[in-house]
Amino acid sequence: MVRVVEVTLEGLQGLEAEFATRLTERLVDVGGMALPKSGSVAIDLSWTSREVSAQELLRLLRSVLEELGIAEGCEVVLDEDRLVVRAKDRDAVLEGLRRSGALRRPQAGSELHQCPHCGYVTPYEELLREHLKIHYIGL
Ligand SMILES: [Zn+2]
Repeated sequence: MVRVVEVTLEGLQGLEAEFATRLTERLVDVGGMALPKSGSVAIDLSWTSREVSAQELLRLLRSVLEELGIAEGCEVVLDEDRLVVRAKDRDAVLEGLRRSGALRRPQAGSELHQCPHCGYVTPYEELLREHLKIHYIGL
C-alpha cells in the first residue's frame, strides 16, 4: 500500500533537506523515509513494518524542531491528513537555527552565503535574503 504524508513547511523555505534528513533518522527503525521537496517534505510510509499514526508523526516533527532549535518559533498543525509546520516568529526561527548550529553543518557541494553587513553565514540563499531584511528595517 502506498502511503505518503505531506508535510508543508510554511515560512521555512530552504530547510526541506534538514527536515527530511532528521525525519528519516527517526523513521529508519520502522522502514519509513522522508524526501525533501520544494516547500514541503514527503514522508513515505509505504514500506513501514507497522502502522505509524499521525500523532506519532506530530511527535517526531516536534522533536525535529527541538533539535533544530526552532520549536519556540514554530507550530505544528494536523489538518485532516496533511501536516503543516508553520513559522510563527521568523526572528526566533533564525536565531534558533543559528544557536543550534543546524545551518553551520558543512554540506557537500553547497556554497555558503555570507551577509556583507555582519558576517552572518548560511548555506541557504533564501535565509540570507530573509536575514538581509533586518539590516534594512526603517529604510
Ligand atoms: Zn547581517
